[in-house]
Amino acid sequence: MSLQRARADSPTWRRSRYVPSSRAFARPRVSLAPSRAAPATPAIDAHPLGVSASQDPASAKADEEKKDWTHAYADDLQTDIYTEVNADPKATVHSTEWRKIMRGDPVEINPSVGSGLKIMTVDEWTSRWKRNDRFPECLACGGTATKEHHFMQTWCRGKKQFESETLCMDCHMFSWRSYSDPDFMLPEEYDKVRWEKMVRDKAAADGVARA
Ligand SMILES: [Zn+2]
Repeated sequence: MSLQRARADSPTWRRSRYVPSSRAFARPRVSLAPSRAAPATPAIDAHPLGVSASQDPASAKADEEKKDWTHAYADDLQTDIYTEVNADPKATVHSTEWRKIMRGDPVEINPSVGSGLKIMTVDEWTSRWKRNDRFPECLACGGTATKEHHFMQTWCRGKKQFESETLCMDCHMFSWRSYSDPDFMLPEEYDKVRWEKMVRDKAAADGVARA
């Protein structure tokens, strides 16, 4: 009895048995919408008391806020953009679905329009994706009937990094573009460098003091 019982009662065993199937349905929902929305335009003109525009800090701020930030991630680049052309997405997002679409298998319906699975054409599956007007060209065929399915940008201390991947509706190839400022550092990398410099400076100062 003991073996049978132990296996059936063991939570570890149950978990390893059941996780794979439940995980298939609990796939994380990744938004198709690029997180690139420009900062909301402030309602400067709507101020009921009519604040004078001659106040310098305020008008400078207004000018700053009027700037179109939509594609600022790709302004004033200091080095080349890295590119790749692939038959499958390089970004992991949508890669499973893409394989299914290519095989003619059903894929999950966008939760905002319904639920369940459906066999879809590429056009149908990508109907909510938008073109990135900063990078409209397909790197494979040069066409501009492209839609972006992955976009990510990181800004840190004025330095920038971004990734964009688009799908061409004409040739169905994926165009990948990524960029990183040569001196881009994430906050933790920046802190590490600063910390190491502090340690070096301290050691140098101690050395001088001892001499
Ligand atoms: Zn193309």
